[in-house]
Amino acid sequence: MARRPQILRKMHQKPHRYRWLRGLSQALTLAALWTVPLLGIVRIDLWGGQHLFRGQTVSFGGAVVGACLTTVVFYLITYVVNMFFARMFCGWGCPVGQLHRFGDASEGKGPAWRRWGPLVLHSAAVAAAFIPWWVDLAVFRDGSALAISATVGGWLGLTVVCALQGRFWRWAFCKSWCPIGLYYSIIRTEKSQSVVFDNAAKTCIDCGVCDKVCPVGLAPRDLQGTMPHRGGFSIAGLAGHNHCLTCGDCVESCEMVLAKKPGPIPLLFGIPKQPEAQPEPAQEEAVSAES
Ligand code: SF4
Ligand code: SF4
Repeated sequence: MARRPQILRKMHQKPHRYRWLRGLSQALTLAALWTVPLLGIVRIDLWGGQHLFRGQTVSFGGAVVGACLTTVVFYLITYVVNMFFARMFCGWGCPVGQLHRFGDASEGKGPAWRRWGPLVLHSAAVAAAFIPWWVDLAVFRDGSALAISATVGGWLGLTVVCALQGRFWRWAFCKSWCPIGLYYSIIRTEKSQSVVFDNAAKTCIDCGVCDKVCPVGLAPRDLQGTMPHRGGFSIAGLAGHNHCLTCGDCVESCEMVLAKKPGPIPLLFGIPKQPEAQPEPAQEEAVSAES
């Protein structure tokens, strides 16, 4: 059976609403990453020493504390978002996850520029978004040749690291090692969106494509079950829903498989139903005694 990169290639032969939605989410995330240092919310200026926090010049330590506080605020915002959307940021907005997606696309046949181009360009964009956090961009106007070379070198180095991450580590990082993903796995609530399987639709042909395309090795039709330890930082005993990136790849692949078949798509986004509570043994006995 085809592997994920091959399934993705087939999926991408046709336009799909998820493509532009993901592009939009990525653009928003990168814009947010640029906005924080450019508005002076936080900047640690390793070149000119003009460290900023909330628009004020502060000491190096103050800027480091500011960066930590900004991260905490980010976590609080995503906490609220994830109460409703689980790990949707992982599947849609995370620029690192997008590196992995382009890493998948770099596999297989076709011209090198087409396979590698998106990964290299996205790596360069992610690296560029982090440079203003560490250096005042005025370095390109007022800096010495050495300072400019160091800044460009930092950007190129980070670009290479990002590209290697997307090509080699890829989804194993999201599955087991990402500390943010771990946090999102834990805070999911029962009201969070996830992928649900509508067995009653009776349209599933058991092709297994959704299993193969899942980037983090889940069984999209059975996310209720608890998972064993999945390596790295992952926590054993959480439901598959907690590990799901809500990326929608399984939904899209199912739509592709069943495109020509009548009837509803059995995999879709939604709030999973809670398993019905089983009556206590004592209650069961009372019910049978009455009858
Ligand atoms: S892709 Fe759709 S049809 Fe195929 S196994 Fe998964 S749910 Fe069933
Ligand atoms: S189960 Fe579906 S939505 Fe969840 S991570 Fe796997 S492919 Fe993405």
